[in-house]
Amino acid sequence: MAIRSILYADDPRLRQKAKPVRQFGPALKALADDMLETMHAANGIGLAAPQVGVLQRLLVAHVPKNENDSQSGKDFVLVNPQIVQASSEKVEGVEGCLSIPTWYGRVLRSEWVVVKALSVYGKPIRIRAHGLLARVFQHEIDHLNGILFVDHITKPEDLWQELPQEEGEEVEEPAASAAEAVAQPV
Ligand SMILES: [Zn+2]
Repeated sequence: MAIRSILYADDPRLRQKAKPVRQFGPALKALADDMLETMHAANGIGLAAPQVGVLQRLLVAHVPKNENDSQSGKDFVLVNPQIVQASSEKVEGVEGCLSIPTWYGRVLRSEWVVVKALSVYGKPIRIRAHGLLARVFQHEIDHLNGILFVDHITKPEDLWQELPQEEGEEVEEPAASAAEAVAQPV
């Protein structure tokens, strides 16, 4: 496995529509393993192949372990994912993106989605996800279509920058809310 470099927002490859994966085999498995390693190394909770410069429809996700959610604390690899059902109920949540470091924003997403995909070995899978995992899937599938989370933001106050704290620096005031402070990029 290897850590791949992550592309940043001005890279035109992040704006292209990725192509369906047609070849299953060791190269695809190696790419998925590299993406998982890259996501974990960057403290992210999701990563789409275009973010590492591969214009194929593949995403990985892993939301932090939470006792109340059996889908948390697990690695997901979805090939050619498609949202086949989504709740009409939308919820607001804070998102960051490994391709847009230090920027965060409030984005409305469906509370739950049903995603149809293939495993890395080409086996059909269907996942009903809610909450944070549903948000990550929606964010990553957007990446496969050349869409970034900032595209969903319509009010300037819903997008802000949080620069990392310097070593030994004192925090002057707490972040707006705990939820905003813990948003992990995807
Ligand atoms: Zn992202």
